[in-house]
Order: sequence, then structure tokens, then C-alpha cells
Amino acid sequence: MDEAMDFFGVVKRQICNCSLGLNLSPDVEGILKMPMRELHMSIPVRMDDGSIRTFQGFRVQYNNARGPTKGGIRFHPDETINTIRGLAAIMTWKCALHDLPLGGAKGGVICNPKEFSEAELERLSRAYMQSICRFIGPDRDIPAPDVYTNPTVMAWMMDEYANVTGNTAFGVITGKPVSLGGSEGRHDATARGGWMAIREAAADLEMDLAGATVAVQGFGNAGYHAAFLGTAHYGAKIVAVSDSRGAISRPDGLDPEAVLAHKNETGSVIRFEGAETISNEELLELDVDILIPAALENAITMQNADRIRARIVAELANGPTTTEADEILYDHQIHIIPDFLCNGGGVIVSYFEMVQNFTMDHWPEAEVYRRLDEKITTAYRAVKDFSRTYAVPMRQAAYTIAVERVVKAMEYRGCV
Ligand code: NAD
Repeated sequence: MDEAMDFFGVVKRQICNCSLGLNLSPDVEGILKMPMRELHMSIPVRMDDGSIRTFQGFRVQYNNARGPTKGGIRFHPDETINTIRGLAAIMTWKCALHDLPLGGAKGGVICNPKEFSEAELERLSRAYMQSICRFIGPDRDIPAPDVYTNPTVMAWMMDEYANVTGNTAFGVITGKPVSLGGSEGRHDATARGGWMAIREAAADLEMDLAGATVAVQGFGNAGYHAAFLGTAHYGAKIVAVSDSRGAISRPDGLDPEAVLAHKNETGSVIRFEGAETISNEELLELDVDILIPAALENAITMQNADRIRARIVAELANGPTTTEADEILYDHQIHIIPDFLCNGGGVIVSYFEMVQNFTMDHWPEAEVYRRLDEKITTAYRAVKDFSRTYAVPMRQAAYTIAVERVVKAMEYRGCV
């Protein structure tokens, strides 16, 4: 299979890359390269015109050695089981790297939510929850939002879980609206955590973030907030952004809030007044200080890696760089902040949400941000120190730390 198509293959190769240093036995490596459990389901949904459409859905629980599995739910037309497996594996390493007492999971439905009415979206969300609710729970597997799902979808799913099981368990799903057991700071946690990691990287490179030029691929939850926080908190200049329909650039800088208003009105960032329309490929190759891929996997491949000119690539998306592209960026001395280090803010604040749900508490925003900073900074420094000490790329360092923690838990539990 073509590397860009075989996302799970890419993730498995990363495990091999670090397993030599860890001296993993083939038996242990074999366990780490297979999901623990997969659910495949057909989900019939009545549409507004009275017809019934059947959608294909998945939930992959990858590894629960360190705790209940955790990971988002995607609604996307191009979803595949291969991608969900890879993303569930990444969630395992992400939770371990950030030292959360959680394993990894991911779910998805092959569908295009942009074609649905709100009522259809609600029926699909509830039907998906009905399919998985006997296999999940606050101490088993806890879903969250991901691409094309949001707090409203999480609220419907939480309600459906309560309807089916009789348990009004806030901790069964995270990324809920704040008035329904959601955490302060969850809405922009992925981007906020990403910028905390970028801040550390910039300090290492002696790069001044005030005035630094930034291109952001993807203008959804992660990408919009990355653009907004970049300008509002760090004084960076967002010179280009994109979505699935195309990209725009403005060397003097874009106002992310104005671009969002335009996107909400027209459905896309393209044709924003005062900006030049460019292709998504051109955005990735711009001569900027920081490139933030915040869309989907496989954005940087062998085809374009040679032309990436950013000094820092901060991977807010999961799996935006293929293994071969990764080597090229490393050779070009581009500082990569690997995905599960850079975008850990989302699951970290989701974990804080669970802790608040379990203790029936509600933390102020400042407390959430303080704890998030502590988690991200600790993980960044651990990865950077490992990378420097053993002269290995940041990604390999992150994998090695995370996989070792998962294997230790498997050993203590007597699984290996
Ligand atoms: P989202 O659905 O809110 O936004 C996705 C954006 O990407 C949309 O603007 C879409 O138009 C754009 N897009 C899709 N294909 C594109 C393409 N080919 N080129 C340019 N833009 C494209 O999703 P999100 O929640 O922001 O997630 C984005 C990435 O971040 C995913 O990889 C996701 O797994 C990862 N992530 C998200 C969270 C979170 O908390 N939301 C946490 C960790 C990681």
C-alpha cells in the first residue's frame, strides 16, 4: 500500500524505530502493533426525507495497560479503519507521554456531516452511541470530539448513553458544553497546548515569537484557535491559513477573528478580502518561521518535504508527516514538534474534565491553564532532553519515552 494511504503502517514503523533502543522482544512488539479491540458497526439512520441510510462506523480500543482507553470520534467521508487504528495507537502514546492514567482509542463514522440537517446529525450521533455504549464507560473507554464533531454532538451522545444505560455519567465523554459538565478551557486546549510547546521550541532556537511568521493548514477547532492565540497571546503574524476548499495568504498578517467571521458567512476562508488565494500545497511550502499543520494526516509527504521551508513544524494535526518526509525534514534541520507532544492539550484538558466530573467539581479557567502548562512543558522538556542526550529526532524520543511507559505498565500487570 502507498505510504500516504497506509496510515497505520506509518504508525507501526514508528514503534519499530524506537523498539531497538528499548530492546523490546518480538512478542512485546507484536502486542504493541495490534489493537486490543475493534468494533465495526452498521448504523441505520432515518433521514429527513423518510429514507434510511446505513453508515459504517468504528471504535478501536488500542491499548488499556495504563488505564481506560480514550480518544475522539470523527465524522468524515474519507474515514477508514486503517486511519482509525493508527489514530488509536497515537492516542496510546499521547496519554503515556503526558503521563495521564489512560490508554488510547479512536472512533469514526464514514459520512459527510456537511450534507446533514441538524436533526439528521443528532440521529446519527445518538445511533453511534447506541452501537458503542455497552463497550464504553468512564472506567472503560471515554470518547471526545475530533474532526467534524463538537460539544453539541458530545452532549447528544452523553444523553443517549444515559437513556440506554440509565447512568447520567458525565465522565463517559469529554469535550461537553461547559454547562453540561464540560471543562473551562477545553474549546481551545489543543491549540493552547500547542503554543506552549512552540514557546519552548522557540526558546531553544532563540526565536522571538513576537512578529514570527506563521502558516496554519486547516481552520477548524485546532487551526482557528492556533491562529487566534498566535496573534493574541504571542504577537505572531499569521500570514496564511487554509481549509478543505483552499488557502489564503497575506504577508502583512491576517486577523483570525475576521477570517472566521468570513468563513462562517461563506463556508470557507477563501476569497477573504485583502488576501491572495493560494493552493493548500503552496501554503505548506511558504517561507515562514512556523508551519502548523492542523488539518488531517499525510499533509507532508515525500512529494513536498524537500520544499518545506519553515524553521519549526508544530504538528497540531495527528500524523501530518509521513515517515519518509520526517527523515527529510530532520536532514534539513527543521525542528519538528511531533503530533502527540504538540497536540496533547486536547486530551490533557479532557482528562481534567474527567477529574472534575468524578469529583463533582468545576475548576476556574486559570487553574486549567496552569495545569495544562505544567503538563505540556514537562513533556516537551523530557522529549527535548532525551533527543539531545541520545542524538535522536524529537519524534523518536517521544515514542521511546511513551512506549517504555506503556510496556512498563504491561509488565507490572503481568501481561508480558
Ligand atoms: P475540525 O473538523 O474542527 O477542522 C478540520 C479543518 O481542516 C477544517 O477547517 C477543514 O476544512 C480543514 N481541512 C480538511 N482537509 C483539508 C485539507 N486537505 N487542507 C486544508 N485544510 C483541510 O477538526 P479539528 O478538531 O480542528 O482537528 C484537526 C486535526 O487536529 C486532526 O488531525 C485532529 O485529529 C487533530 N486534533 C484535534 C484535537 C481537538 O481537540 N480538536 C485534539 C488533538 C488533535
